[in-house]
Amino acid sequence: QGKAQGRGTVHFFDPSLAEAAQQRARLEADLRLALQQGQLLLHYQPQIRDGQPSGAEALVRWQHPERGLIPPGEFIPVAETSGLILPLGQWVLEQACAVLAQWQRDPLLQAMTLSVNVSAHQVQQPGFVLHLRQLLERSGCNPQRLKLELTESAFIGDEQTAIRAMTALRALGIRFSLDDFGTGYSSLSHLKKLPLDQIKIDQSFVRDLLDDPDDAAITQVITQLARNFGMEVIAEGVELPEQKAFLEGVGCHAFQGYLFARPVSLSDFEAFCHAHLAASATHALKPRA
Ligand code: C2E
Ligand code: MG
Ligand code: MG
Ligand code: MG
Repeated sequence: QGKAQGRGTVHFFDPSLAEAAQQRARLEADLRLALQQGQLLLHYQPQIRDGQPSGAEALVRWQHPERGLIPPGEFIPVAETSGLILPLGQWVLEQACAVLAQWQRDPLLQAMTLSVNVSAHQVQQPGFVLHLRQLLERSGCNPQRLKLELTESAFIGDEQTAIRAMTALRALGIRFSLDDFGTGYSSLSHLKKLPLDQIKIDQSFVRDLLDDPDDAAITQVITQLARNFGMEVIAEGVELPEQKAFLEGVGCHAFQGYLFARPVSLSDFEAFCHAHLAASATHALKPRA
């Protein structure tokens, strides 16, 4: 406890450490309250396939009473270490199913998929499959429209538990995407053992692929391999038309990024879809010149 032990000693009363610990505790307490008081909300980022919105990714935000809108990078890590990720994740899934059920009643939106980020802790929970099945039944949402995004961390430790849960949920029609692919430690051959429908090329590769031949090559190899395994490939973080053109050229099926739209409110996402789909519907009706 702050005894002088020479080099490497961490002093108990280091003010910056104490402050950091205090800030963390404060953030955790605030987040617990935020969950109870309904301060979390979802934004929706369009995913584009064949030039049309085909779905969205739900991304959580925290409307903090004093600090304004806080991005998930600032509170998901605290949620993960505190266990709050379980109620938070459940809330996100409930919202997502309610939204999907609503879209199903709109002819223009009924084919939209909704991708939800699911933490490794959630998939490893014994009740995960049962809870989700009950949620689907209660909400009346079509499981085929729900996509769960996992990262490679879901398979570290107890891989079989994750695979069992995925297999049971896929039998219901739910689809799975591997998020941030290429940033983890799993090998390419590991990919074929996982019951996946889609892989998502991490935005770090997309960001640099125009300047860095290595990233261009990695993107191409990942896409080819995933396609050979019968998986769909989506690229995230697409900001430039040239990036999209390259990705399309190597065989990516779908795209997500600021080039198309930022994550927006539910009503803005729905308006985006209506504008695009209505425009293309009118287009299709016009006789060709
Ligand atoms: P992610 O799942 O990889 O989500 C993609 C992130 O990239 C989002 O950041 C999105 O806003 C951002 N993004 C999208 N297009 C572009 C682009 O063109 N350029 C750049 N630079 N960025 C782009 P966001 O919303 O801050 O989310 C960060 C991470 O927080 C997510 O990464 C995900 O890991 C986590 N997260 C978000 N919502 C949830 C959730 O409901 N549950 C869990 N467990 N994690 C979540
Ligand atoms: Mg994601
Ligand atoms: Mg990602
Ligand atoms: Mg990411």
